[in-house]
Amino acid sequence: MARAGWRYLVFCPVPLGCLAPGQVPARPAGANPQLSPGAGNWHTVRPMLISLTPPQGTAAAPMPGSLAQQVRGACPHDCPDTCALLTTVEGGVATRVQGNPAHAQTGGVLCNKVSRYTERTYHPERLLQPLKRTGPKGSGQFEPVGWDEALGDIAARLQAIAARDPEAIVPYSYAGTMGQVQGEAMAGRFFNRLGASRLERTICAAAGGEGLAQTLGAKVGMRVEFFTESRLILIWGSNPVGSNLHFWRHAQQAKKNGARLVCIDPRRSETADKCHEHIALRPGTDAALALALMHELVVHDWLDHDYIARHTLGWLEPGGGLRARALAWSPERAAEVCGVPAEQIRALARDWGRCFLEQQPAAIRLNYGMQRVRGGGNATRAIACLPALTGAWRHRAGGLLMSSSGAFPLDRAALQRPDLLAGRSPRTLNMITIGDDLLRPASAGFGPKVEALIVYNSNPVAVAPESGKVVQGFLRGDLFTVVLEHFQTDTADYADYVLPATTQLEHWDVHAAYGHTDALLNRPAIAPLGQAKPNAQIFRELAARMGFTEPCFLDGDEALCRAAYGDKVDFQQLLDHGFAALPLPEAPFAEGGFPTPSGKCEFFSARLAAQGLDGLPEHLPNHEPAGASDEFPLAMISPPARNFLNSTFVNVKTLRAMEGEPLLEMHPEDAQARGIASGSVVRVFNARGEYRVKVQVSGRARPGVVNGLGIWWRKLGLDGTNVNQLTSQRLTDLGRGPVFYDCLVQVRAD
Ligand code: SF4
Repeated sequence: MARAGWRYLVFCPVPLGCLAPGQVPARPAGANPQLSPGAGNWHTVRPMLISLTPPQGTAAAPMPGSLAQQVRGACPHDCPDTCALLTTVEGGVATRVQGNPAHAQTGGVLCNKVSRYTERTYHPERLLQPLKRTGPKGSGQFEPVGWDEALGDIAARLQAIAARDPEAIVPYSYAGTMGQVQGEAMAGRFFNRLGASRLERTICAAAGGEGLAQTLGAKVGMRVEFFTESRLILIWGSNPVGSNLHFWRHAQQAKKNGARLVCIDPRRSETADKCHEHIALRPGTDAALALALMHELVVHDWLDHDYIARHTLGWLEPGGGLRARALAWSPERAAEVCGVPAEQIRALARDWGRCFLEQQPAAIRLNYGMQRVRGGGNATRAIACLPALTGAWRHRAGGLLMSSSGAFPLDRAALQRPDLLAGRSPRTLNMITIGDDLLRPASAGFGPKVEALIVYNSNPVAVAPESGKVVQGFLRGDLFTVVLEHFQTDTADYADYVLPATTQLEHWDVHAAYGHTDALLNRPAIAPLGQAKPNAQIFRELAARMGFTEPCFLDGDEALCRAAYGDKVDFQQLLDHGFAALPLPEAPFAEGGFPTPSGKCEFFSARLAAQGLDGLPEHLPNHEPAGASDEFPLAMISPPARNFLNSTFVNVKTLRAMEGEPLLEMHPEDAQARGIASGSVVRVFNARGEYRVKVQVSGRARPGVVNGLGIWWRKLGLDGTNVNQLTSQRLTDLGRGPVFYDCLVQVRAD
């Protein structure tokens, strides 16, 4: 039956000589008599509805009968690509999730992970009702309870704590969904109204983001689609084959067009395999490499003096600007630090310089791997200076892209309503140090002991560093923990209440991206499964239980979607097409105009200098530099396993089957020196803990560095641990980010 108020465009997938538009076909015997004959072509095959516009104010809903429908959405995961999705729904059931071919950035292609989204959504272990803990914390023993009981009890517990001190309540969330609505919209309102502690959400990109902001002015850069035209691409701290697939399409096209691809990464990743060259530097030495490249540009005068003079700040300073700093970094000095041949550094500088001489575009795809070390912010600054030195920004296919998220005109204040703080200024805790903070007593400096933790869109027991301490904190008998989740994760095992959240197929949301510059809308494709509710709805209902009567707690999810961009993005276009490109120039900094205080690319940052920090980028050795310890002689990095996304998808059986089991990659020299054979179980340890894992002796690891692929759920590891048992809670130079790849260990045969 056709639904009142809906417009239908019916597509027949079989080429049987379709009728001209407007031509009314004869209805064949057996065809659904309630469909307008003008709606499409009658065939004996089942038609598929590809364009569906619901009546204003309602979500897309399943079509009755035998019609399938496709609903437009957006991938919610922490990935630069933010793909546009098309979900096929038949009889109220999502049967397929695919890329929207109309969205150029997606190009109809999804990664292996999200193309299995129906398997994840209908997973037999999906949480579909509220659960209350019945066994000891961490045991995973729960009983089902009704929403009324769960929300009533949670509200009562939070009210009692808030009556003493609302800062004893801490939200803990990150990018489990990148959606603005199911992320921090209603949740932000709730915690602001409550006066809870604030959270520094720094676990991924804080150092790089701050480094970029100090140099370019914001998280902005090249338009990703123009990498196709680049002649030289440095893929730096990134494995796009595994985690930035849609950029990789452009890089491959550039390669076909004759571009040279260079991968800079301690690990010989799947991307490194496919590049012309791999520079396997030691973790945490990227700034030294960048400064040595500058050294060569200066020595050979491969410099765009006009661009430097007009559009940069801090090249020639009386006390020594970036030029003088770079001249202190000969390729030999950098080679010593980075553990790569000086000639390889010279050759890379020559490649970059040749592009300048030939007026060809050279570009850098920088990603977040390289900034998860002590000097990650400075390394980002140093690398972000390179394109300005040769005027690479003059080309639309030249420059650098780390994150494009700063280009999106999101109105976060409208979503999160900081005015609800009403003048209060609660303390801020850093999500990196949750292990220590959960174990801290009340003090004048720290404030109240953490008494309640509300976790959503995150799995800190698996992903936060030094997880031995994180677990100890979550085990505290006097800590009240609520977890909003899809699955019984490591963190959910420690909850007092687990509340079932909807997946992206079941709710509204609106998205920005950090690897392209299109805004996206996500419509619900199916009704919530079981008793699951959208995060925003859970916080809305909790707010009501807490007696928060402000009208903003009544805003619906679609209204929140509209508020996210206000009038900056045409919401009707999002409704009609699912995406909308931001109106941005093709070559954003061809004529300078950086969003810094000076309007220039700031080699020297007066803002950093005012904080007593070095105003110029410099190489800062790791907290735990390679070779600094006889006891723990190996550096460890923990890049993502290809078929997982942080700790998401670990429980999707087909993806887990592809990954097999937790692995530590180790170079043959290091393995041989320890009598370790491929496939054997080893102990990886340092002063923070121990992790048992199967070793893979492999050239993917460079000598002196082991790669602990992550992030597996702890409960699936050999001893109920994962690689974060070993990582530290220390912070980066800028942005107070994590130092997951700044970690020394020893490895022994088990
Ligand atoms: S995880 Fe990334 S590549 Fe995969 S569908 Fe989502 S946005 Fe696209």
